[in-house]
Order: sequence, then C-alpha cells, then structure tokens
Amino acid sequence: MQEAADLEAAKQGDAEPLLRVRDLRTWFLTDAGPVRAVDGVSFDLAAGETLGIVGESGSGKSVCAKTIMRLLDPPAKIVGGSIEFRGRDLAKLDEEEVRAVRGREIAMVFQDPMTSLNPVLRIAKQLVEAMTAHGRFTAAAARTRAIDLLRRMGVASAQAAVDRYPHQFSGGMRQRVMLAMGVSNEPALLIADEPTTALDVTIQAQILELLRGLNADLGTAVILISHDLGVIANVCARILVMYAGEVVEEGAPEDLLTDPRHPYTWALLHAAPRIDAEAEDRRLVTIEGQPPDPRAWPEGCRFRARCPFAIDKCAEHPDLLPIDATRASRCWVTQAGGALHEPVRPQPQARDAATAVAPQPLLEVRGLSKHFPLPRETLFAEQRVLRAVDGVDLDVMAGETVGLVGESGCGKSTLARLVTRLHEPTGGSIRFAGSDITHATQAEIRPLRRRMQMIFQDPYASLNPRMTVGEILTGPLLLHRIVDGQAAARTRVEELLGLVGLPRQSMQRFPHEFSGGQRQRISIARALALGPDFVVADEPISALDVNIQAQIINLMVDLQERLGLTYLFIAHDLAVVRHVCDRIVVLYLGKVMEIGRAADLFARPLHPYTRTLISAAPVPDPRVERTRRHVPLKGEPPSAMNPPSGCRFRTRCPVAEERCAVEMPPLLPAADGQLVACHFPGRI
Ligand code: SF4
Ligand code: SF4
Repeated sequence: MQEAADLEAAKQGDAEPLLRVRDLRTWFLTDAGPVRAVDGVSFDLAAGETLGIVGESGSGKSVCAKTIMRLLDPPAKIVGGSIEFRGRDLAKLDEEEVRAVRGREIAMVFQDPMTSLNPVLRIAKQLVEAMTAHGRFTAAAARTRAIDLLRRMGVASAQAAVDRYPHQFSGGMRQRVMLAMGVSNEPALLIADEPTTALDVTIQAQILELLRGLNADLGTAVILISHDLGVIANVCARILVMYAGEVVEEGAPEDLLTDPRHPYTWALLHAAPRIDAEAEDRRLVTIEGQPPDPRAWPEGCRFRARCPFAIDKCAEHPDLLPIDATRASRCWVTQAGGALHEPVRPQPQARDAATAVAPQPLLEVRGLSKHFPLPRETLFAEQRVLRAVDGVDLDVMAGETVGLVGESGCGKSTLARLVTRLHEPTGGSIRFAGSDITHATQAEIRPLRRRMQMIFQDPYASLNPRMTVGEILTGPLLLHRIVDGQAAARTRVEELLGLVGLPRQSMQRFPHEFSGGQRQRISIARALALGPDFVVADEPISALDVNIQAQIINLMVDLQERLGLTYLFIAHDLAVVRHVCDRIVVLYLGKVMEIGRAADLFARPLHPYTRTLISAAPVPDPRVERTRRHVPLKGEPPSAMNPPSGCRFRTRCPVAEERCAVEMPPLLPAADGQLVACHFPGRI
C-alpha cells in the first residue's frame, strides 16, 4: 500500500515529499511571444498535507495546478523544471503514462463541475467509469461504492440520486459529485481549483468540511487553490502566495495571515473586509495599478511598481528565501528583517451638506410579491407557481446603503428587479420618492427611471461590445435629453469617466479592451449618467479580484458621499455586506427573516438563519476561527415552488419546534430596532 507508506513516513517526518515541484515553468507560446504564466515555481508537498495556493487572476495558480495534472492545451507548454511525484517526473511522462496517474493517483475538482461532468450521462455511469477505468473495481462493486461515496459527500437519497443526470443537481450537489468522483480511486493527492467560488457561503462551508474530512479520514493530500484567504485558512496547514508567475511568500496560516512578510500578501489581507471586524471607515486599502504583463515581466521585483515598501535594491530580482524556520519570502525588505507597517487608510471625504443623509424613506415596499407561473406538468395538472418574493416589507432611507443577503434562490435579485420595476409585481405596493410605482406604465415610470439605476455582476454582458465607451455613455444622455447636443454630451461623458477614475481616452475604446474592474467602472459611469439618487447594485463585485473589489467599494463609497446616493446592495460575501451597508435584510425563500443595523445584526443575530449564515463565512485568521462558535447549516434550501408550512426555515433550523410547522412567524420588532421573523429569536 503505497498510500499508507507515504502517510506513515510523512508522520514520522523522514519522508520524501509526495510531490516535489522544482523551478516549474509553464509558458503559453503565442505568436505575440511567450506568456510566462508559471515562471520558476518550487515547492514540496508531504503525503497527507494540505497546501493552499492563493493569488489574483493571472497569478499563475490555476496554470500551476493544471501543469501538475498535465491538463495543458497548446499553446501552453512546460518549458522547464520538474514535477516529481512518487519518484516519477510527471513533466516527462507521455500521455498514456499520465492517464494512468490522473484520476488514479492525483485527482482534480474545478470551480464549475459542469465542465468535468458529461451532461448526457447519468452520474452512476460517470462514477463507475472513473473507477473501472483504472481496473481497481468491477462494475458492480463500483456502483455500490459510488452510492457509498455520494452518501458520504452528503448527497441526499444517494441510492436514487446516482441515477440522475448532472443538470438535475444544484451547483453544490454537483460539486459533491465531483468530490466523490475525485476520491473514488483513493488518490494520494486531490487538487481543488476554486471549488467553492460559485457556491453560497453555507454550501461552501459544507464543501470545505468535506475537504477537511477527506484529508483527515483518508489521508488524501490536498492542494486548494483560491482567491479567498478565509477559505484557504479554513482548510490548509501551509499557504503559498503567488504573484506574477512566482511564489512570493510561503508559511503557515497562523503566521502568514497575521504577520505577512511580503507586501503583496500584506496588501491582499488589508484589501479584503473581514466579517469579524467593524470598520471605522468604509474605504479599504488598495494597491494601485495592475499586475505586470506576463509577456515581459519587469526587471527586478515584479511587485515593485505597486509596492509601498520598495527600496533601491528592489531593482534587482529577489529570490524566495527562508526568513525563519518555517517561512519564506521573496522580498528584500523582509529578508533583511524589515517590518511591514500598518497601512495608511484613505481619508474619508467630507460629506456635502446639501447631500447629507435625510431621514425620509426613498423606497417604501409593503407586502411585495412576485409569483412566477410555471409550465403545467400535464394538460390537466394544477398550475404551479414559484414564489420568488412573497410578502416583503422594506424601507430604504435616502442616503443609506441597505444590503440584501441570503442563499441563491432566496429572492434577492427578483426583489431588486421588482423595486426598479424591471419585473411587474404580483402583489403588494412600491412607493419611490413618494410616488406609487407598483403598476406604473413604462411611460409613467420613465421620468423616475432616471432616478433609479442598476449595476450588474457581469459588466461585460451589460455593455454593448460593438459600441465604444463614449457611445455607451452618450446614448442615455441624449435619449433622456440630459444634455443638449453632442458637444455637451462629450463634456458630460468626460466628467463621468473622471468620476469613476478612468482616463478620458477611454471614450474611444471598446469594452473588451478593459479589465474586469475597469468594465465595472464603465457600468457605474453609465448608471450615473442620468443622475440617479437610487442605485441597485446586484453582486457588483463578485466576479472581481480582492484588490479590484476594494477599489470598486471605495469608488461606490466616494460616489455616495459626493452625490448623496442611496444603495440597495446585493452580495453573497457577508464580510463585504457588513463592511459597506448601514442596514441588512436577510431573505430566505422569498421572505424577510431579519432586518437590522449591520453592526447589531453581526454582533447579535437573532434569527437562526442569520446566525448560521454568519457562522459559515470564514475568517482569514486561524486563531480567531478557532474561537468562533460554528453553527453548521445542513442541506440546501427547499424549492420556492413548494415552501414548507409555517416557518419557511424550519426544515433546516437547528432549534425548530412543533409550533414552527404550523404557525408562520411574523416579522416583529426585537431588541435595538432589529426586526425578526422567528418564534424563538436569539435561541442560538
Ligand atoms: S522586494 Fe522591494 S518591491 Fe519587492 S515586495 Fe519587497 S519591498 Fe516591495
Ligand atoms: S420560527 Fe422556528 S423554525 Fe423558524 S427560525 Fe424560528 S425556531 Fe427556527
């Protein structure tokens, strides 16, 4: 048993590492020259160890993982280095030899399981094929094992689920299937590339728990790749931080996340808001500029152009060197014993007296519902409806930021589209700036439309790729007669670009010429073009890297202070919501579970659902994480087509009683102005 030998040797500390990567170089050999995506990466991984690799998009972390798995497509090519795994150099194996290792000894799960699952084959067939392909199991034994594995991964009704198709599973369930497939051949190493990035925080916590369990129970070594330091800290015993194709820092989470020794790690930590910290100011620390071009890495330290600690010596390229017994850093300053000081935080801007928060409601929502009729299953079958939003009361005061949180399908995006009247309500009322707009016609709503705008998660999808930025921004100005003539429109577009921090030359360029963060700035500029006072931001930063997220948050905070904007802010990242919002609304299956001031709600959640949501969000500090009380949330939300009787949360609530099944709890005032819909508020 090679695995047992590896693990035993590792425990005794005298083992050859399971994986030894040395000076690995993976380049994309393009016509425009080599893109040096992975450029001299070295690390060891012991049997049974958990290693996290963190970095921004383009840092090389995913290419590194794919290189180890030999999953590279041309023009990507290993141009140097070695990947020793159990005595063989994977970089030198031919395709047939690699196939024998892949899936059998090393397995990989990706962010989107649908890219790895065959949509036209039942799960059973795919799992059985994965196991029989390496000759370790007969088909019958593999099927039995497939059901066992699905059960172990928390797939409900595994016996029946195994015969379903991938599309019949939720995203979280598909990731469980992928994990089952990944460990089906008892690999020595599992590489998980952003496995929870597309999932809700509650499901993320369940998947991370599974990864920890696989490591602890089966001794599977894990390489976890993520942009989220909290996720990495939750699972891994050691972290590599990658920047511009290189490892820039290595260490244990306890050290690296509390006392970073590379300015890039330092910047990542300060750019991300934390769920356990109340911010004095909403502006986050950001690093200016972009990562360098991988076709022409700069001379010297690759982080130098963005580094607030740079010294003359940084014109030379630093090596990754030990700075103590367990840590290494690629930085001249910390290698010489220098410390990284606390960041200088951006100064809050004085709020314009004319745009100070006024205490009157801008938006008043009462009993708001949206029921979507679904196709009948048969001609005479009963009409089914999806109760996406079901009786929501909500006020948003002028100048405040209200956050909407809840798992996928809770109704937050539908609610956002209802209040901006992109959806027609089924019931209830909406008043905006004193006018009843519940059933206003498009003509009636047009004058108000200028005052309410939306920003979406994917700016690329919402910007016309065939129009220049100038045309995109000029269109609404002329359509709504905000300005008179092209010259005035151009002046206004230049002002808007300046407002969102883009150069005026951006006018002539097309959306695809911009980075994700810049595109989100363009869509914010477009939202501001008509001079709105109410902006609904639906996951505006979810697709962005941590540093770019921080830049967009800072921009939104600045704009709110300068223009007196009111925000309805939807995000699945609770730390971000806590950081930017004055008040928070927690939704579950179309109903409000709790409303409260952000500080109160996070300090003292009264609804069991709020409590479990907060508990599921990881903190990037293992010492804090160990002291937090975790209340795991089991399963996934039931269908909004057929919600549970009584309290909608009762099927997952850890403190539900009989009364909860028969009596729907109303939303009632509790302590400190919090409103909560629970028969037993504050019980957990
Ligand atoms: S070597 Fe210099 S530029 Fe590079 S991270 Fe360290 S201080 Fe900054
Ligand atoms: S009403 Fe009952 S089931 Fe619902 S959240 Fe409260 S305790 Fe749980």
